[in-house]
Amino acid sequence: MGDRIDDLRSLLDRASYAYYALDSPVLSDAEYDVLYHELVELERQHPERVVPTSPTQRVGAPPLHLFAPVVHQSPMLSIDNVFSSDDLDAWVDRVSRLLGEEPTLFGELKIDGLALSLRYDGGILIQAATRGDGRTGEDVTANVYAVDAIPKRIAHDAPLEVRGEIYLPRSAFQALNHDPDLKVPFANPRNAAAGSLRQKNPRITASRGLAFFAYQLEEPTLTETHHEALALLSSLGFAVEGHAALVQRESLVARIQELDRARSQLDYDTDGVVIKLDRLEDRRRIGTTSRAPRWSIAFKFAPEEQLTRLLAIEISVGKTGKITPFAVLEPVVVAGSTVSRATLHNAEQIEHKDVRVGDLVVVRKAGEIIPEVVGPVRGARVEELERYHFPEYCPSCGTRLIREPGEADFHCPNRFCPEQLVQRLMHFGSRDAMDIDGLGEMRARQLIELGFVRIPPDLFSLGPNELGQLPAVGERMVQRFMAGIEAARGRPLHRILFGLAIDNVGAHVARVVASSMSSLDDLLTITVERLVALDGVGETVALSVVGFRDDPYGSEVLAGLIGAGVVGQGATDATPAVSEQLSGLSFVITGSFPDRSREQIRNLIVSHGGRVVEAVSKKTDYLVAGERAGSKLAKAIELSIPVIDLQGLGTVVASRQ
Ligand code: NAD
Repeated sequence: MGDRIDDLRSLLDRASYAYYALDSPVLSDAEYDVLYHELVELERQHPERVVPTSPTQRVGAPPLHLFAPVVHQSPMLSIDNVFSSDDLDAWVDRVSRLLGEEPTLFGELKIDGLALSLRYDGGILIQAATRGDGRTGEDVTANVYAVDAIPKRIAHDAPLEVRGEIYLPRSAFQALNHDPDLKVPFANPRNAAAGSLRQKNPRITASRGLAFFAYQLEEPTLTETHHEALALLSSLGFAVEGHAALVQRESLVARIQELDRARSQLDYDTDGVVIKLDRLEDRRRIGTTSRAPRWSIAFKFAPEEQLTRLLAIEISVGKTGKITPFAVLEPVVVAGSTVSRATLHNAEQIEHKDVRVGDLVVVRKAGEIIPEVVGPVRGARVEELERYHFPEYCPSCGTRLIREPGEADFHCPNRFCPEQLVQRLMHFGSRDAMDIDGLGEMRARQLIELGFVRIPPDLFSLGPNELGQLPAVGERMVQRFMAGIEAARGRPLHRILFGLAIDNVGAHVARVVASSMSSLDDLLTITVERLVALDGVGETVALSVVGFRDDPYGSEVLAGLIGAGVVGQGATDATPAVSEQLSGLSFVITGSFPDRSREQIRNLIVSHGGRVVEAVSKKTDYLVAGERAGSKLAKAIELSIPVIDLQGLGTVVASRQ
């Protein structure tokens, strides 16, 4: 067993050095944690083998000589982890036993950045230091002076030490990794924060947009509790993370789950919840180990990043001809679901990250629906792998791909490319466009492959004869499909415009453009000048609209739709767009409302991007019910569709902000 302990130690040591000192991890956090816990378990079974130099007994890694050393006044420790509610419960039991009473608990999101100590004297920031190995950190004062988010002066004269997490907001991380001047992209915001802080040139630090949350006041005499300390820090001008709050033992698990759900919406990475004792006296009583306080514990969230092997890079063709490369991966579970494909964004990203087939890559699913490849683990590239060369020709139609100077994406310029036609037909039938029941990817592909449809207007001349020939489509399906197409004829103009898949014209812009037109025919004469005069329409959008109208594909589609009478006339939705908060949701309104007409409620929903339909079906998201609601209410209850009143509607709008 001895070998395994030694092996684990040297593996973890190497990984820690790469992670803490070089800001360039060679293992994913999840992998590190698994190996770390294996070592903890082995040391528990063989206590005689525990040595102070083991990674389980230490904090971080020794500081780099790039910066002057700073000996911390009190050690900056790590935090022990738990991964299950049982282990968390056991921790509270242990603490209660040590204290002889149930503790008051405080919960905070665990920010994924790096710990920073800030010392003030006479109200002035005199020293900023990283954690280093917990005893000795690095003097980063000059760099911290370049970080706007950290107060340099505070209204407190006596010496004071504030500790907290310096981090890079997700938005700043994305911008940084897309910066063509950055030679090697960072694996994640934590490493990017560390790399940005630990720069020789403070000007670089200043440009990165670092932010800071204070979570500890190293001055036990100022307050009796942690929550008072945070309030004091906030009043001194420090940002304190907004979810920090006292929490009852009974609601710990619910609170953690709530925070886990909320975190994808935040502009910073979090990897768990830190539970702390609130009373400072309790903390003093139970103290710390050499590595971590006994008075706090981190409940780690399921990892959002994993390592896996990149098996191939393939490309897909979008509805506007945009070529998106994606990774085919050895399947791996990330944040609870199996991932075997992930986006690689565009050619530029592949070049910058230098991702190669055969690489071990970090896959990330941070609140995004589509997982992404963060980058290769270069340290794990043992054999020489071939650099990736982006395909020169469209995989669907064989046309040479183009990439305009300064553009990140390649495009297939052939508007009649079969794959683009499929994607555009699907988009035309999609829920927020023409909402044609039954027109998913498979049907769109079949219709095009069988030659029944080439461009969207062809849909309106389909009859039972053609539809009946589609594979696995019976009589009833034909009827449904026909009814869906018929219903689409009357869709309002903004949805037709959106359905055309014009470059840069999303649902919101389509609404704005439609509000200036009376029917689709107007598109034939619309000018760039008229378009740019609209609020929210810039030159790019205007040129896209006019360009679409004038190119052979666009003009054929427009002529086809106008010829089929699909012009949005009479159904023009003049309701001004207020927000897109309800976008993607469908509502049915029923009953009567004391001080509003149904039309007013309809306009309210539509102005927030929602859809109002007549009949309740499984696809309805909410029934807005007033007095004397009848069969629609019964149907909604039968289908378990949420029934709300006007106040409930307000809550739905607010909850999607
Ligand atoms: P940690 O990051 O798990 O926890 C301690 C740190 O949490 C503190 O130092 C502080 O900086 C931070 N923190 C964030 N929010 C906080 C809050 N609200 N209150 C208090 N502290 C807060 O511990 P660690 O010792 O820095 O690192 C261990 C972790 O680092 C491992 O679990 C692993 O995931 C990662 N790691 C990864 C590698 C790798 O190769 N990928 C190597 C070493 C360590």
